[in-house]
Amino acid sequence: MNGSFDVNDVLGGASPPWTLLVRRGLHRQCPRCGDGHVFVTRWRLKERCPGCGYLFQREPGFFLGAWFLNFMVLEILHLVLMMAFILWKSGHPKAGLLLPLGVGLVTAVVVPIVLYPWSQSTWAAIDLAMTPLELTEIVEAADALADGEGGPAHPDSD
Ligand SMILES: [Zn+2]
Repeated sequence: MNGSFDVNDVLGGASPPWTLLVRRGLHRQCPRCGDGHVFVTRWRLKERCPGCGYLFQREPGFFLGAWFLNFMVLEILHLVLMMAFILWKSGHPKAGLLLPLGVGLVTAVVVPIVLYPWSQSTWAAIDLAMTPLELTEIVEAADALADGEGGPAHPDSD
C-alpha cells in the first residue's frame, strides 16, 4: 500500500450480508474482508486483520461472546449425547454409567479447546453483523492498515 487512500477505501462499500459474515467466521477468516490469515497461531487471533485493519476485540471483554458460543456448542453436544445414551440405555438396562460419564468428561475438556479458534472468529462475525462498524472504527482500521499493523495477538489471548 502506498499510504494514501480515498473515502471509498475508508468506507469499503456496503456491509456484506450477515450470512456471509458468519460463513467467513466459521472458516476462521476475517468477517469484514474474508482474509484467511487472521491467526498468529492456531489459538491466537491477531489484534487486527492484516487484510482490512479490522480490530477484532472491539471492546473490553469482547471474547466472552466466543466463550459463550463455545459453551453453547458443548451444551448442545452434551444434550445430543445424553439423548443417545437414554435411547441406548432403554435397550441395555444393565449398562453402567462409566462409559457415558467418561465420554461426557472428555468432551467437556477437549471440545472447547478444539473449537476455540472457530468460536473467536465466529463471534467476531456475529458481533460485526449485530453492530456494524462506526465511522471512527472504519477510519482506525484504514489508518492501522496504512501503518502496516497486522498485530500479533489480542492482549487477552495469553
Ligand atoms: Zn479483514
